[in-house]
Amino acid sequence: TIILAIESSCDETSAALVRNGRDVLSNIISSQISVHKKFGGVVPEVASRKHIENISGVIDTALSEAKLKLDDVDGVAVTYGPGLVGALLIGLTTAKALAYAKKLPLIGVNHIEGHIYANFIQHKELEPSFVCLVASGGHSHIVNVVDYGKYDIMGMTRDDAAGEAFDKIARALGLGYPGGPLVDKIAKEGNAQAIDFPRAYLEEGSFDFSFSGLKSAVLNYLNSLSMKGMKTNVSDVAASFQQAVVDVLSDKLIAAAEVKNSPYAVLAGGVAANSKLREELSKKGAKKGIKVLYPDPILCTDNAAMIGCAGYYKLLRGEVSEMNLNAVPNLTL
Ligand code: ATP
Ligand code: MG
Ligand code: FE
Repeated sequence: TIILAIESSCDETSAALVRNGRDVLSNIISSQISVHKKFGGVVPEVASRKHIENISGVIDTALSEAKLKLDDVDGVAVTYGPGLVGALLIGLTTAKALAYAKKLPLIGVNHIEGHIYANFIQHKELEPSFVCLVASGGHSHIVNVVDYGKYDIMGMTRDDAAGEAFDKIARALGLGYPGGPLVDKIAKEGNAQAIDFPRAYLEEGSFDFSFSGLKSAVLNYLNSLSMKGMKTNVSDVAASFQQAVVDVLSDKLIAAAEVKNSPYAVLAGGVAANSKLREELSKKGAKKGIKVLYPDPILCTDNAAMIGCAGYYKLLRGEVSEMNLNAVPNLTL
């Protein structure tokens, strides 16, 4: 079974061909980072326009790299939410047109579900159930993946997402956009114990997150330094901030895996690419006999292959979408 998958929820235009769910034949990602960088973040109108310009070429390239034609495709999977409505609509209308013209099933996929499925591509033997932390630009969830398509949300952020916190702190430090990879890199040169930023563990046993207090603490620290006319040690601030985020994310994921007796603690979403998070989790997991899994960085951030994998398992269950499927910007898992 060959799935053509399309992803356009934010600032990556992506198309992929995936065989039997886990075998990626091509995964073309056209990033708009260079376009949005000068604005310090994603500009929705610009994103929609760029998706229109790029989408046909990205799909053509995905087909040719996979050495396939549209006639070889058995279904079209597409992200229909959550994300920017204008951006989502470009991928969705393209997918509908292709499905209609070629009389193929249309499979609407939840983007957050897609992030989790990147792990099924990376780890061919992985099967549910397992506990997964989805930490991305807009979401921070701890999910018990009970089965394909069956999710029990154990906790989520009460304010900012983890990736959002990385992006905001990077901006305050003058590092640029997107902030996660830049903080990750410069933190390697800093002292993570230099500044004791707060860690919000919330109530005993809670798997929720809160990053707004940490964000304020970092901003206040930077403001007080500049008012005293003192220079900021950017790498120390980045390292200390990152350590505070990583401590909470990793402690809560390991605790959630223990509660559910999950043999695995799985990472997904853009923040899963963070080197400190991977390192710290692997250490904590090893102590508890829990195996820590994560996808390659390219499968952590937005890509269509993960949507193709999730779409394949939906097609297997007969969960096909109607042609009137609409974009749902605030779709939940
Ligand atoms: P969502 O998936 O919630 O809709 P999104 O699609 O914009 O949001 P992703 O593409 O999954 O988010 O991830 C992008 C986020 O991941 C950005 O916030 C980025 O800063 C963060 N990120 C990427 N690499 C790293 C890294 N190495 N360390 C920390 N954060 C990272
Ligand atoms: Mg992106
Ligand atoms: Fe994403």
